[in-house]
Amino acid sequence: MSIAQNLEDIDKKICAAAEKSGRKRSDVLLLAVSKTIDIPRIKEAVALGCTQLGENRVQEIMAKYDEIPGVQWHLIGHLQTNKVKYIADKVKLIHSVDSLKLGKEISLRSVRAGRVMDVLVEVNMAGEESKSGVAPNEAEELAKELGSLENICVKGLMTVAPYDPLPENNRIYFQRMKELFETIKSRNYANVDMQHLSMGMTNDYEVAVEEGADIVRIGTGIFGARDYTNKQ
Ligand SMILES: *Cc1c(COP(=O)(O)O)cnc(C)c1O
Repeated sequence: MSIAQNLEDIDKKICAAAEKSGRKRSDVLLLAVSKTIDIPRIKEAVALGCTQLGENRVQEIMAKYDEIPGVQWHLIGHLQTNKVKYIADKVKLIHSVDSLKLGKEISLRSVRAGRVMDVLVEVNMAGEESKSGVAPNEAEELAKELGSLENICVKGLMTVAPYDPLPENNRIYFQRMKELFETIKSRNYANVDMQHLSMGMTNDYEVAVEEGADIVRIGTGIFGARDYTNKQ
């Protein structure tokens, strides 16, 4: 299927899932995950309205940044402290903050860049060994501590749910994320402005939106299967 057809299909599904949770299509941001995708295909998606792009590697944002103007970049993958300096002036939102150490570096670099960086706390909801993110019971403390740093604003939570051929099995994780989100929101910590719940990927975004996601991160569903052979 073409990118245009894929986007149309995804749009309908987001719309239906949003309605199930009492919201509208426009309440949910479709973040197009462009990792490993070449510039012409990304531009095709941008022309079709995907103006917010997600990448999981700093190098890839740097390589694509000047080539694709007029979009906003989101860092969605694990971020090493020593790479924050390269993106402090380039990204709109960092979805993957999972330590105070990383937060401190983001704070430092944001001060130097003369901006406030919006971040999400990444939560490892299913406790998978292979995944980054804090344990659910550590998320509130980290959000509060990040909010105390200069030039950082915590905007919500993000999770990468396990890959499961039956996306329904991830519903419990999305429900727990929503509960955690509401709990932290209710505390009204300084510089913790809970707005976003980034959850759901190609395999499970409909369930995620039904449970309250307002940012879905979709790569394969838009661009087709990724070709890693000469990319990583
Ligand atoms: C690659 C990636 C996605 C998109 O995955 P798809 O299954 O291709 O939609 C979403 N979130 C993160 C953090 C990713 O690394």
